[in-house]
Amino acid sequence: MCGIFGAYSPDSFVAEEVYLGLAALQHRGQESAGVAWIDGGRRINSIKGMGLVHEALSQSVLAKTPAKAAIGHVRYSTAGASMLQNAQPICANYAKGPVAIAHNGNLTNFEELRATLENRGAIFQSTSDTEAILQLLAHQPRRSPFDALLRALAEVRGAYCLVVLLEEGLVAARDPWGFRPLALGKRGDNYYVASESCAFSLLGASFVRDIEPGEVVLINSDGVTSHTLPITSARKWFCSFEYVYFARPDSVLLGRSVYRARHEMGKRLAISEGVDADFVAAFPDSGTNAALGYAEQAGIPFEAAVVRNRYVGRTFIQPTQKVRELGVRIKLSPCPELFRDRASVLVDDSIVRGTTAGLVISMIRECRSRALHLRISSPPVRYPCFYGIDTPSSGDLAAAKYSLDDITRTVGADSLRYLSREDMINAIGLPPDSLCTACFDGNYLGDDGKCVTSKGACGGEIFD
Ligand code: AMP
Ligand code: SF4
Repeated sequence: MCGIFGAYSPDSFVAEEVYLGLAALQHRGQESAGVAWIDGGRRINSIKGMGLVHEALSQSVLAKTPAKAAIGHVRYSTAGASMLQNAQPICANYAKGPVAIAHNGNLTNFEELRATLENRGAIFQSTSDTEAILQLLAHQPRRSPFDALLRALAEVRGAYCLVVLLEEGLVAARDPWGFRPLALGKRGDNYYVASESCAFSLLGASFVRDIEPGEVVLINSDGVTSHTLPITSARKWFCSFEYVYFARPDSVLLGRSVYRARHEMGKRLAISEGVDADFVAAFPDSGTNAALGYAEQAGIPFEAAVVRNRYVGRTFIQPTQKVRELGVRIKLSPCPELFRDRASVLVDDSIVRGTTAGLVISMIRECRSRALHLRISSPPVRYPCFYGIDTPSSGDLAAAKYSLDDITRTVGADSLRYLSREDMINAIGLPPDSLCTACFDGNYLGDDGKCVTSKGACGGEIFD
């Protein structure tokens, strides 16, 4: 996942604004946070730390830091271990000056790039795939940093949204397939770039537009100039899971409100998979918007019958199965008197390993509930993601290993139904060929059937 944020101002201190932008994007990563800027001596500077934004960074220090441009990152690791060394932005002072990069996504040809670069003498400081972009850039000392960056990006494959700090200005780039979101915002003469538009509201900035797939934007005293990467893709692959789970409901991605998409998923679930029940409840917060849509469509009340401890972070983020299981119990708890002797429909956005559903349902069973129907507002997740989301390998995905009946029995529900792929796409409201649905249907990048995975290269066939 990961969240990235960049700010440029012709005359003010923006490092604190990056801190605030990252706080608004905290849901996209809780492992580490960092901010980078170029100081008066033309050197790159950064503060990075493990944990949440307020644990990792000092707001008061950033508020006093003079910087016309700064970038920041909240990390949720997919490539590379969770440690301070892999925290971003990745920074360097190379032959042509300072550079810092913050990345959301996953490069699918990282292993090949790393091998090639190491053969050329590159020494990698981290295990993060983002460092390959920095190394590719630094290996072109005769070009200007911006030109070197454009050429470096022509070499990488897979999913990336980037904010980059160069002496030439603040750069924002989105891969040609457009996997992950990236938006441009503005307040007066200040410009902002963020993974999600929700980060602009906090700063009083307004959403200008999405950065387009394959677009590289340079922001400096000349304003905003747009460049196009030398590679293009006929087919776009925007991550449908952003609408299902990752993005904040108050964000608008590609012109579609995340809240409305989730609400519509719930309505469609009620139409296709409705069941008799006294009330609808959600796994908070991930299932709440869809549960509201379900309840509205079905004409039965929504009850906030499962309570979330708001001081405990996302369970999935915890690295081990043991901690993950404990985390669900710490985080979610049912109201016994609402469930006792009543039939309910429980809505969540997705089942990955099945841990959350199993544990919450067992807690509800202890309340002597009459009937419990589980409804999931996305299709079964059967395939791993190679584009920046930490879905496990197929061996750990409940829907890849077990039949619908087996999962229903294992999680302890009276019935279990999923939203269909078609309904999910229609609820999002974007053309089907502009969305990635690979974790649901195994249709990975490469319309010719040649899958692009973290192990295999695309070979170029997919480009126009
Ligand atoms: P699980 O317990 O493994 O079945 O995970 C399902 C729960 O994790 C659901 O409540 C989702 O809201 C949430 N979830 C789904 N995908 C992810 C992901 N890639 N990262 C973090 N949480 C997720
Ligand atoms: Fe998103 Fe799934 Fe595609 Fe990964 S595989 S980019 S999670 S839709």
